[in-house]
Amino acid sequence: MTRKKKATDATKKTSELDFHFENIKFILLYSNATPIRSRIGSKYACGYCTNQYSTPAELKDHTLYTHVTDKPECLRISSLSKYVVYLDVTDLECLMCDARLKKLEDLMHHLKNYHDEPFHMDIKNHIIPFDFATSKMQCVDCCKQFDVFEDLQEHMNCHYKNYSCELCDDTWFVNRSLMMDHKKTVHFL
Ligand SMILES: [Zn+2]
Ligand SMILES: [Zn+2]
Ligand SMILES: [Zn+2]
Ligand SMILES: [Zn+2]
Repeated sequence: MTRKKKATDATKKTSELDFHFENIKFILLYSNATPIRSRIGSKYACGYCTNQYSTPAELKDHTLYTHVTDKPECLRISSLSKYVVYLDVTDLECLMCDARLKKLEDLMHHLKNYHDEPFHMDIKNHIIPFDFATSKMQCVDCCKQFDVFEDLQEHMNCHYKNYSCELCDDTWFVNRSLMMDHKKTVHFL
């Protein structure tokens, strides 16, 4: 009984990760959205290689001009292991028809409905968009502004009610590992 349950859980996890990878692959192939692997010190790290840049705009330029053909393969190796993807969606466009899209969800619906790409809408969303069009760090969902990227990054958790901490009220996390980090640092678990 126990063994059977374990096997089912494992299968579910694999397929959800596969669906997630397909979604992110379509977004990266068919739009000008670019991944941010992480922030290292005061720099933004490329989602595909080890280069780092001082501003999101420099990173985006680098990604769009350097990684034209090797996008999905590089991404599989680099940032998907964490199962959460940070995307720069500034001036978001569909590369197949040049349509301008305001939000990441608009792009996903656009690719699914206009270009028949098989998006998986029924999985937990682990893709977090950032728009750097204004000089302030601004949330794409509620337009709240922050001074530094790290604060905005942490704020985004509240828009992704994927995992919650049962020891705190109304504390949400995009993915399991962020929740575990929280439990470790705040509750010493
Ligand atoms: Zn790169
Ligand atoms: Zn299009
Ligand atoms: Zn917000
Ligand atoms: Zn907690």
